[in-house]
Amino acid sequence: MQGIAVLGSTGSIGTTTLDVLRRHRDRFRLAAITAGSNAALLAEQVAAWRPPFSGLVSDVGPACLIEAVLRPDVDIVVNAVVGFAGLEATLAALRAGKRVALANKESLVVAGDLVRAAAREGGGELVPVDSEHSGVLQCVAGREAALRRLILTASGGPFREWEAERVGAATVAEALNHPTWRMGSKITVDSATLANKAMEVIEAHHLFGLPYDRIEVVVHPQSIVHALVEFADGSVLGQFGFPSMELPILYAMTHPERVSDSGVRPFDPVASGPLTFEPLRGDVFRAFRAGVEAGRAGGTAPAAFNAANEVAVGAFLAGRIAFGRISEVIEGTLDRYTPVPASSIEAVRAADAGARTEAERLLG
Ligand code: NAD
Ligand code: MG
Repeated sequence: MQGIAVLGSTGSIGTTTLDVLRRHRDRFRLAAITAGSNAALLAEQVAAWRPPFSGLVSDVGPACLIEAVLRPDVDIVVNAVVGFAGLEATLAALRAGKRVALANKESLVVAGDLVRAAAREGGGELVPVDSEHSGVLQCVAGREAALRRLILTASGGPFREWEAERVGAATVAEALNHPTWRMGSKITVDSATLANKAMEVIEAHHLFGLPYDRIEVVVHPQSIVHALVEFADGSVLGQFGFPSMELPILYAMTHPERVSDSGVRPFDPVASGPLTFEPLRGDVFRAFRAGVEAGRAGGTAPAAFNAANEVAVGAFLAGRIAFGRISEVIEGTLDRYTPVPASSIEAVRAADAGARTEAERLLG
């Protein structure tokens, strides 16, 4: 029996994780859950699961995340917190030698080197929940040395075929209407701007140790092929499946083992229909370009990118700015930003705070 902590249990990934755990009670025991501010749903989950530990950040502060991951009865931490707020729990869990099933990609974006160092020092293990990275991991299967190139797929989001001008004026409802995935509101907007795909490129760089010029993105509107992995001899393996987070969540907990699961819809290549691939329109989806550039610049640049994005997406969802302003705020923040080495949590925190202030100023 392995003990599981689910951070962000009330969110999209968190509730799906509980669905997965319900089917695998023979293997996993729920030891801890935490939520940001949804007290009602957390109380419901506590009543249903009776976990030994639960914490609500809006009540007791963020220390409950660290308390949850450090518990001796926790072996695997499913980090499904959204945003920068997930970073410290990732670091603490890896330093304590736990496995982190990482949905909180922001941890790797803002502090990829620190996260990897924490895993090395503490003996912790980082396994991605993000579907594209789960697909890569499954294709690589121990053959890291022969890896030549990764091709991450992107659905293209709801505005894949829209004219640039129309994209700029998109409403909140339009941005939240994702064609293939049901997710929390922040990542859904990130998928509409394609900032999410830039974060995934940075995430892949850290997870698989490849330079940026060997990580590519292709738009694949059906979201059936989650990743394509090219090896030294030119052979390309892909990971296929109907879009659902159940499999990547379960796999992150059982890797490298595979276990049978009734919750995953059997794949049917005929029912999936034609699979198509097309280039990403970098001139329209400028947040993607800005994010990848920040990744290439390195140091604290990706932390500044992430902070500006979080502020701009929050402002868009609150009705304060138009959709098109999100990428402008990101670009404006990064234009004025000089990265420093991301060599400590303090440096990353300072970069995050500074970029938030600058992004807020640009919002007016
Ligand atoms: P969500 O908004 O549905 O859930 C977020 C969870 O984090 C909630 O439980 C919330 O209570 C908690 N939370 C929010 N602010 C917090 C804070 N300050 N401190 C502690 N907890 C806080 O988001 P989601 O869609 O479940 O996504 C979670 C993470 O997983 C994100 O990093 C996202 O990018 C990543 N991810 C999600 C999907 C998906 O299909 N939803 C896929 C891949 C990766
Ligand atoms: Mg993804």
